[in-house]
Amino acid sequence: MTKITTENTVKSATSASPDPQRGSLPHQNVAVLGATGSIGTATAEVIGHLNRIDPNHRWKLWAASGHSNLDLLEQITCAAMGDGEAPERLIFSDPTCLSPAHAAQRFGRHGYQPESLKFGPEALVDAARHESVDVVVAAIVGRAGLESTLAAVESGKRVALANKETLVVAGGLVRQRMTQSGAKLLPVDSEHSAIWQCIAESKSPVRRLILTASGGPFRTASRDEMENARPESALEHPTWQMGRKITIDSATMMNKALEIIEARWLFDVSADQIEVVVHPQSIIHSMVEFEDGSVLAQMSPPDMRLPIQYALTHPRRLPCQAPAFDRTQRWDLTLEPADLERFPALQLGFQVARSGGTAGAVVNAANEVAVGLFLDEQIRFTDIVRVCQKTLESHTFDDQPTLSRLLELDQWSRQEAQRCAALLR
Ligand code: NAD
Ligand code: MG
Repeated sequence: MTKITTENTVKSATSASPDPQRGSLPHQNVAVLGATGSIGTATAEVIGHLNRIDPNHRWKLWAASGHSNLDLLEQITCAAMGDGEAPERLIFSDPTCLSPAHAAQRFGRHGYQPESLKFGPEALVDAARHESVDVVVAAIVGRAGLESTLAAVESGKRVALANKETLVVAGGLVRQRMTQSGAKLLPVDSEHSAIWQCIAESKSPVRRLILTASGGPFRTASRDEMENARPESALEHPTWQMGRKITIDSATMMNKALEIIEARWLFDVSADQIEVVVHPQSIIHSMVEFEDGSVLAQMSPPDMRLPIQYALTHPRRLPCQAPAFDRTQRWDLTLEPADLERFPALQLGFQVARSGGTAGAVVNAANEVAVGLFLDEQIRFTDIVRVCQKTLESHTFDDQPTLSRLLELDQWSRQEAQRCAALLR
């Protein structure tokens, strides 16, 4: 059995020492890639909060990226300026949304010089590698986050990882590059943060990781009901407010499948050491079973500001904006077995975690395409996982793919998924 430790996932966020010459607090420069998303905006809030309450550090939003929601990027920038920490660098990852001239005009009003405004996906990679950056928050959704997350890992950064797709696509490569560079992955996904916290509390060998799943909006739905589910109902998550892609992933339970694969790489365990249980209240974020059968759980009301903050401040725990337990209320915490028949995505997740190699890249790309098609009402809800299964079946498996092979397969899978979807229509 693999011995799971926190050493390979974690490096202390408090390693920076005070600068006696400046007599000021040590800066933690944070690059938030995907700053305008659900995780990105929560991270900007956490940074503002830490600056108000952390006596040991100054937290600087050093770089912030937005893809298309530029109003939000402007709001985040202004809020950081209000806290006295304007981002040094703004990244417009989709250069078709704003020309450099318009960006200079719009952000020049806030004092930005054109050289602080960067454009295109390569600007994400530059920021992830930049020597001034201490922590990269990987908060871009989907495979689009791969290159910048990998660049941060190769540069030996502390990487607060929300973008689970990077590990799903290229988990083996990420682990290899971490070993070479000394980079540390700090889990942001609430389940993986919970496991990390439980492991950190007990230095003992681990027997099993138990991921909890809310079950999403169709936890009690029949296959027939799911077959006819519309995007509006799939987007109604009972416990979490998140971006659209992950919300659909939660409804199919593909999100849990991606998290099984994420846990396999993040904690370097075998698929057989991972289990999933359904916990509709989303209070127990995950559990760890130790050698003696004892199980530790991490619990808190569902709010991503807690795992984001913990990733930044580990091993310190500081007051957090996320709500604490209301002890005046009755709390019913239930656990039920996951239904692998009604949610075949889970079987797929275990299968991919077992195979490794190219399987994750193929399923991830197929899923991204299928989610888009479902949101455009081109395929049925239950077709999402069918498309992923069929695309996986038709690919030629490679155990030790290079990065270029994975990127090639990502493209191939997108076309193959379109083809499979057309056959299902
Ligand atoms: P979101 O859709 O709210 O935000 C996505 C961010 O990525 C935005 O800033 C957007 O501008 C940027 N983006 C989109 N396409 C891009 C592209 N092609 N290139 C560069 N940037 C692009 O998503 P989210 O819910 O914040 O999720 C972000 C990541 O975090 C996902 O990998 C998700 O699985 C993971 N995650 C999210 C939550 C949550 O509570 N939202 C929880 C755990 C993990
Ligand atoms: Mg999660």
